[in-house]
Amino acid sequence: MNYDTEIKLAKEKDAINSADIFDFRGTPFEYLCDDFYRFCRQHLNDNLKNYNIDPSIFIYTGYFDSNAMAQYKNDTFSIHINVGLIKNCADNYLQNKSFDEYLEKQYSDIIKNFDNPITALAFQVATQFTYYHEFAHLIQFEKKRQTITLQERFVKTSTYDKVKQHLETNADTLASIAIASHIQQYIKKSFGDKITQENAEFTIIILCSCLLNHIANFCDDLPEIYYKEHKHPHPFLRLFTVNLNIINYLNQSDFFKEKGIDIKINQVFKKVLDFYEELEQNKIFDTEITETMANASKQQREIVEYMGDLIQFDVTDYNNAVEQWNKNFQ
Ligand SMILES: [Zn+2]
Repeated sequence: MNYDTEIKLAKEKDAINSADIFDFRGTPFEYLCDDFYRFCRQHLNDNLKNYNIDPSIFIYTGYFDSNAMAQYKNDTFSIHINVGLIKNCADNYLQNKSFDEYLEKQYSDIIKNFDNPITALAFQVATQFTYYHEFAHLIQFEKKRQTITLQERFVKTSTYDKVKQHLETNADTLASIAIASHIQQYIKKSFGDKITQENAEFTIIILCSCLLNHIANFCDDLPEIYYKEHKHPHPFLRLFTVNLNIINYLNQSDFFKEKGIDIKINQVFKKVLDFYEELEQNKIFDTEITETMANASKQQREIVEYMGDLIQFDVTDYNNAVEQWNKNFQ
């Protein structure tokens, strides 16, 4: 499958309005879009049979807000990525000069160990996280096989839907596990034998902070925490799940244990939030996290209870994507 056949199949199966299809070739986004497309297509190809999700289409849409969507329609699975998501991730991480300069100035001792700039790594982590999240939705849809679409962008007018909030949380969990193993690979590759507690932790903190920013960007009003409203859990609740899953995975890693590195869950999580605040204070990111955290700290018990309930919530019509993913790794 190449992008031409992708477009052809999308039209044939009526997966998308023809006018919404974005053909990245010959545009300023060609390089970034092509690279990401190849990564996603390869992963889809490798997994079509394992998860019974053939055919699956990957298509870009020509909208400039940061959004993505998973769909099941006409016996066809599809992942739709707005070109705006690629552009925003490039602007926020890959081509964010002030971020690079800030890291260079404050953390040059650690930064100099990387082969690639860590902001490029952050771009990969954010875009790949979105892919794995959408991929998880395809696994979920496979059981029910009824027309459904799930969008990532927060819609203020959407009504509470517990099933959808569970599906979102379940997709975030799969994406976190997948990304945690990528982060471990990056650390292994970047530092080799020079790996230390400090540089491993710092890599995790930067990448988790960028992921936190990426999730926060799906919402316009971060400080106002809600529970039983809307189709998506509040982004701050999502990033709680995501960061804790990633850090928990790395905490259990045999590779780190062999190297004598101890990723302490609570400590590293707190450092991620502190570092994020530091980035906001220095105008690298602008998502009002400080205000959100002040609100969240008053509601810690509610957040943990609510998310625990959502994770456990038994949705029988759809596959549990995490369960299916773990089966494939046994
Ligand atoms: Zn989703």
